[in-house]
Amino acid sequence: MSLKSPALGDFRRIVVKVGSSLLVDSEAGRVKEDWLASLAEDIASLHKKTRDVLVVSSGAIALGRALLKLPKGPLKLEDSQGAAAVGQIALARTWAEALSRHGIAAGQVLVTLQDTEERRRYLNARSTIERLLAWRSVPVINENDTVATNEIRYGDNDRLAARVATMASADLLVLLSDVDGLYDAPPGKTTKANRIPLVERITPDIEAMAGAAGSELSRGGMQTKIEAGKIATQAGTHMVIASGRIDHPLRAVADGAACTWFLTGANPVTARKRWIAGSLEPKGSLVIDKGAVAALNSGRSLLPAGVIKIEGAFARGDAVVIRGPDGAEVARGLVAYDAEDADKIKGRSSSDVLVILGFAGRAEMVHRDHLVVGRS
Ligand code: GLU
Repeated sequence: MSLKSPALGDFRRIVVKVGSSLLVDSEAGRVKEDWLASLAEDIASLHKKTRDVLVVSSGAIALGRALLKLPKGPLKLEDSQGAAAVGQIALARTWAEALSRHGIAAGQVLVTLQDTEERRRYLNARSTIERLLAWRSVPVINENDTVATNEIRYGDNDRLAARVATMASADLLVLLSDVDGLYDAPPGKTTKANRIPLVERITPDIEAMAGAAGSELSRGGMQTKIEAGKIATQAGTHMVIASGRIDHPLRAVADGAACTWFLTGANPVTARKRWIAGSLEPKGSLVIDKGAVAALNSGRSLLPAGVIKIEGAFARGDAVVIRGPDGAEVARGLVAYDAEDADKIKGRSSSDVLVILGFAGRAEMVHRDHLVVGRS
């Protein structure tokens, strides 16, 4: 193997996905409190080392069905939705309590497929998550199963977690699972199954190794985990599949426990920049002054003060071309304000934005993370 597995301590923003069967004891119909306490301790220790941690937790439907004493077996969509409505309350409380023992505030975020796929809603969800992280809170995220319908839902939290990780520009996604990684044959079925420690690229061979197995509680089998790996690694996020069937599962990964790493070649900011530079239709332009051109060239963000003129009808989050006073393209980026608001605050200091617009928007017109200067 040419590449070494990364270490958990190398990452600054980590999404931890927890499956239903790890968290919920289906026989007893309740949360596995001791296990959760050990995971919360691991999360708190990363948090203390100034890492940003986000949790994607399943378990709403499993807890709801236990609380409602629903019979075993597959549930109809309406039943899952109702069970999730009941279970999500218990799930959120469970996480809030487990994290509060370490002085961490949990923030519940329920998302639907549209929230991650439609640009405007995506930006909204992303800024809420950013705000929670800025407050050093831990977002606890799940699909909003109660309103998600069959055609338009994730259904499994593996892919949801991967989208959340890319949305938050996380550099690592940890999928805690009831298996400790990807095997070249289904574990248990044959004695010759070998765990693959490191996947540098998800090839058709790797995809073929993922059977469709899932348990009664968990929607996702290895297939959805490989799908998650594709989403994550293409967007600059590393992924690791590790066992959650032990106490302190994150500490175990840090200590080198058996797992499968999926490596990404890109880093999240580079990947996003490539996407901004390459694949977007600019909706308008911002003409900026000489001082702002110099600021952009030295890697800084574009502030409202440096903008002279707004052209086109763009919405917050759209791609715009940024031109110098002579009209030449200087950069491209995702603008933080609608055209109308941008026009009102152009040439003004960021501290005036609240007074002019009546709400406190971003200090930057285009943040440097969303800016590609000199598209070469
Ligand atoms: N969102 C579902 C729940 O909380 C879980 C989906 C999954 O198992 O991945 O019950």
